[in-house]
Amino acid sequence: MKDAHATDAETDVFASALSGQVLPKHRMPDDHSPTEVVYELLRNELLLDGNAAQNLATFCTTWSDDGVHRLMNMCLDKNMIDKDEYPQTAEIEARCVSILADLWNAPTGGAATGCSTTGSSEAAMLGGLALKWRWRTRRRAEGLPADRPNLVCGPVQVCWEKFARYFDVELRQVPLEPGATGLRPHQLAEYVDENTIGVVAILGVTYTCVYEPVAEIAAELDRIQAEHGWDVPVHVDAASGGFVAPFLHPDVVWDFTLPRVASVNASGHKYGLAPLGVGWIVWRTADLLPDELVFDVDYLGGDMPTFALNFSRPGGEVIAQYYLFLRLGRGGYRRVHQACADTARYLAREIDAIGPFTLLYDGEGALPAVSYTLTDPVGAGFSLYDLSDRLRARGWQVPSYPLPADRGDTVIQRVLIRHGVTRDQIALLVADIGRAVEQLRAAPHGVSAVAPRSGFHH
Ligand SMILES: *Cc1c(COP(=O)(O)O)cnc(C)c1O
Repeated sequence: MKDAHATDAETDVFASALSGQVLPKHRMPDDHSPTEVVYELLRNELLLDGNAAQNLATFCTTWSDDGVHRLMNMCLDKNMIDKDEYPQTAEIEARCVSILADLWNAPTGGAATGCSTTGSSEAAMLGGLALKWRWRTRRRAEGLPADRPNLVCGPVQVCWEKFARYFDVELRQVPLEPGATGLRPHQLAEYVDENTIGVVAILGVTYTCVYEPVAEIAAELDRIQAEHGWDVPVHVDAASGGFVAPFLHPDVVWDFTLPRVASVNASGHKYGLAPLGVGWIVWRTADLLPDELVFDVDYLGGDMPTFALNFSRPGGEVIAQYYLFLRLGRGGYRRVHQACADTARYLAREIDAIGPFTLLYDGEGALPAVSYTLTDPVGAGFSLYDLSDRLRARGWQVPSYPLPADRGDTVIQRVLIRHGVTRDQIALLVADIGRAVEQLRAAPHGVSAVAPRSGFHH
């Protein structure tokens, strides 16, 4: 006789024994259940998550074409670390590194090196470690103390704070000047010294979406070297901008064109358009990646150099990244991001027209995004947090948060426009913002303009 669960499931998934129960939450059930029943129950539970297509807070890919879905499914069993068992996946990773080194203008001749990672955070750890090792080797060779490394940066993403804490490096975060949206080169002189392992410049500041002026930062470090003799390398955190600037802003000088840029990281799963789980780091030349950081893994059959924090890692995202490079080409990436940038500028105009907002970034010149503040946070009768809450009731996830130090008294709202976000969708958002503002003005909450209540951002 068939077991009762199987019989249930054959009648109807929602008439099954399991769907009539509260699901076990702390102890594994004693026995198995039918695939379709468990699948439907979990699918229903996941509907409680925010709808990714309305998540305007994330930089990450939320839409993929059918080719990506099919390749990801096919690659479910490919382990990125088993380079000997899956040599073609390893080969495709190497091709992606070469393509990115070329896209970011590394010296010709293939001297650049790099690898895939789980995202920009792991890439940042690897980039930071290489900086620390090179600085320490140099200091020791000169017979100088090498126990107090520091890293200088502006308003960085949390991954650099993690790097500093995990790997025992002092993080010298330069505060924002009044009116500034990122690090300003003239601020460096006060923070850089002989113990500075590097300066992180951000192409696409998380908070404000603007590009920091990498060329001017490099020039200021040239000046500091001329004055003090300290040769401080630049690592560009191009998590978002690394896949935007080459296509939309070819005149912005930020990459390996600048001799001082030693390494660059980017998130394949942001404007690289790959599904979640892939980042990239590229060093200008192989000698910038110290040998001591590279492990030769030989027990899987071959002898493969690896530099990574993880061991096992899925290979599908890397395959999908290569697919997208081939599928879209430079022209395709440009058109996708241009469409997003056009929609961002449309949104900026509409936000401006609603009235109570001042644009901080209008989508022109850097990431396809818009950020704004309340012109009169005290007199508006509502806060941006109130507005975020109202929009959330319609499913929109639009984050409000304070700027980093020293502009922490400025609360902003930010909307990211990504692949898959349409003009019509943004027109609907604009209508919802307009309605929400009217309602909030009619029935003000009278809450503080600065107290963070739903401060989610990335
Ligand atoms: C998103 C982001 C990161 C972290 O990248 P993940 O790929 O999410 O790990 C680091 N730096 C900047 C500037 C970012 O925007």
